[in-house]
Parts: sequence; C-alpha cells; structure tokens
Amino acid sequence: MSRFPIPPAATDRIVAAVDALADEVVDFTCDLIRVPTVNPPGEVYEECARVIGDRLERFGFEVDYPVAEDRPEHTAAHPRMNVVGARAGSRSNPRIHLNGHFDVVPVGDGWTLDPFAGVVKDGRIYGRGVSDMKAGIAAAVYAAEAIRRAGVKLVGTVEVSGTVDEESGGWAGMAHLARTGRIKKGVTDAVIIPEPLNVDRICIGHRGVYWFEVTTHGHIAHGSMPFLGTSAIEHMGAVLETIRNDLMPRFAERTTEVPVVPESARHGTINVNALHGGQPLGDVQSPCVAHSCTAVFDRRFLLEEGFESTRREIVDLLDGMVKELPEFRYGLRDLMVVEPTRTPEGASVVGALGTAINGVLGREATLVASPGTYDHKHVARIGGVENCVAYGPGVLEQAHQPDEWCEVDDLVNATKVLALSVAELAGVEGLS
Ligand SMILES: [Zn+2]
Repeated sequence: MSRFPIPPAATDRIVAAVDALADEVVDFTCDLIRVPTVNPPGEVYEECARVIGDRLERFGFEVDYPVAEDRPEHTAAHPRMNVVGARAGSRSNPRIHLNGHFDVVPVGDGWTLDPFAGVVKDGRIYGRGVSDMKAGIAAAVYAAEAIRRAGVKLVGTVEVSGTVDEESGGWAGMAHLARTGRIKKGVTDAVIIPEPLNVDRICIGHRGVYWFEVTTHGHIAHGSMPFLGTSAIEHMGAVLETIRNDLMPRFAERTTEVPVVPESARHGTINVNALHGGQPLGDVQSPCVAHSCTAVFDRRFLLEEGFESTRREIVDLLDGMVKELPEFRYGLRDLMVVEPTRTPEGASVVGALGTAINGVLGREATLVASPGTYDHKHVARIGGVENCVAYGPGVLEQAHQPDEWCEVDDLVNATKVLALSVAELAGVEGLS
C-alpha cells in the first residue's frame, strides 16, 4: 500500500492536539490499570472491553464486542470478550488497525505500590500492565481522537481494538479477530500493535517457538539393586548433557540477520520448562528404578533455521542417542509451534512510523525484533496481513516486572507518532 504525505498544517495541528489532550491520555491509562484484567485466569475482561468501547463510542467510533464463544477458555465465569471500534473516513480504505491486548500478567512479588491503583508519580505512571500494554491502548485511542480534534479529515478508516489473552497465546483474542475476518488481507491495509518496545524502536517480528515434550523410558527394578533395571532419569540426564554439549554450541555458531533484541537472542535458545521422573513427589515412595521421565522444552528458533530443520535436529539428536546408549528409548510430542514472522522490507507501516518518530523525537528509528512472540503472528499467519509491526510507549524491560511503570513523556510522544503514522497511512482528505 502507499503512503500519503501529510500537509504540514495537518502535522502541526495533530501534534498540538496531542499536547492539549496529554492529561486525558494519562487519566485513561490509569482508568485501564484500575480494571485488574489478570491472566490467567482472565479476570474482568468484559468490564475492560466496555471501558475501551465506551471511550471509542464517545470519540465517534462504531463499536462492537466480538466474543470467542467457540474457544474452550471462554467460560461463564471468564468470558473472552474483545472490543473493536471503526471510524470511517471518506472511504473505507485504506483501513488502518491499531490493536492492543488488555490482559495483564499476575502481580507477583516485590511491589512497593498498589498494582491496580493507577498512580502517577515523578513523571511515571505505575501499575500492573501499564507498559504491557495499557499505555499502548490509551495511546492508540487518543491518537485517533487527536486527529479528530485537530479537524483533520482522513480518507481511510481507523480501527482500534482491545483484545484478550495475548499473554497466553491470543487464541481467543487477536487470533479470533483474524479467524473471523476482522483482520484480513485485502480488507486490512496496515496493523500497528503498541507493545512496549521503547518509543524510538519499531519491531518487525519475532523468533519462532517450538515447545516439545520428551519422555525417556526405562526398566523398573528394585531400588536396592538398580543394576537390574534401567533408569529413565539417568537417560534424561544424558539427553540434557547432549543438548548442552552438542546442540548449544551449534546455536552459538548461527546468528540471525533479523535485528532481535537483546543481542544474545540473535541465536537460537533452548530452555527446560519442566522435568519430572519416577514416582510422584510428595507421596509415600517405594524403592523403584524410574521407568519413565518427562521433560518439556522451549526451543526458540531463527527465521533462517525454520521449523522443519529445527525439529529434525532434535529428532536426529535423540535417534543418535538410541544408537549410542544401550536401552535408550524415547517418545517425542510436539506441544506448540509458532513460525517466526518478519515484516517485509519496504513495508509502508515501517516507513510511516520511521518518518513520524524522526519528526516527533528528532532521531532515527531503530528496527528491532522480539525474542518472544506476540500477536503479530496471528495478523501475519491467520489474517495474511504482512504490513504489521509493533510500536508503542513503555520500556520492554519493564514488562511483567514489580512496580511496572511507563514514562508520561513516552506515552505522549508515542501518541503523536501513532497519530501522524495513521494520518500518513490513511491519507488526509482535508482540514476543517
Ligand atoms: Zn504485551
């Protein structure tokens, strides 16, 4: 899709409008923090969707509330309700979609402030989910409103959505919007997700995910004569050792061309999520050689590695152990696969945000990619919309931390950047 240069008068008016509504965007961020949408289990989603929807309606949007009724996580106690607002310009396209997830991770330990009070102190807003990503949602809502208050008429349509469950995969949230055609190639022209990636950085994608479970099998025997059995736990120990000695040095040799941050994540990684072997813990035990041991692995792979070769590497490693270790037997179960995503070179959404960042902050934007995944995958993989990035206020390292905060200045600047980018992508029809 194309970009439409904004008339200088419109730029000035939009920037001035954001400055004039700065207090409102801060207040609205605090309002959102005060709705404790903790996930799991997905608390008070409906209430939060309505807070966003009411504000959008007041700002001239047509609003509806898509509920992911077909998902197992949608229950009477914890309904999976999303909110989508659309405000048409003189035409329906270009259609620019701003999306934020309104679920937040549990509070955890170490807070010195009330995580759901929504307090502003010394130029920072504090609260669970302020960076990740209620400030981003507020920035999106008020970016659209600043354009309206500036008297700038757009050619295309602006959409703002608030969705659920990003922290647990986004299947009832952004994936639901994509599955039901709300985010769709040929309909949606650009998507910006205001995740907290620092106010001068544009995030063009993420690494892939392969979660798998390995079970080693042994031979049960009396624990006083372990030489008569085969320990599945010993075998799992050998698996972990082979991963450390054979696999991890190979990761170190491969570096992605994608600008993943932090830099250490430009290689593949593997983490052991869980490990259990032998008899259940916490119960009375009897003397037995463990006949089975199971571990869950979280492998993050590079765009250049791809899923097929990532999986094959694991299978080859385990098959190699079958040949080398007497009585080594294993089972492998795939738990989750997420393909890596990367916004295409020259995407208009990257260009528009880059120009706006330069104009607002007076410095060049940096392109980055995320070590973990976020809702970008559903936009690209299910919706087929490649013109998608993450850009928003907040510092990445603040996500999921105690005393989570977001700078007020970052929030205001990100609102300006989003407003100018939307104007450039949707096109300015005229000024009133
Ligand atoms: Zn997030």
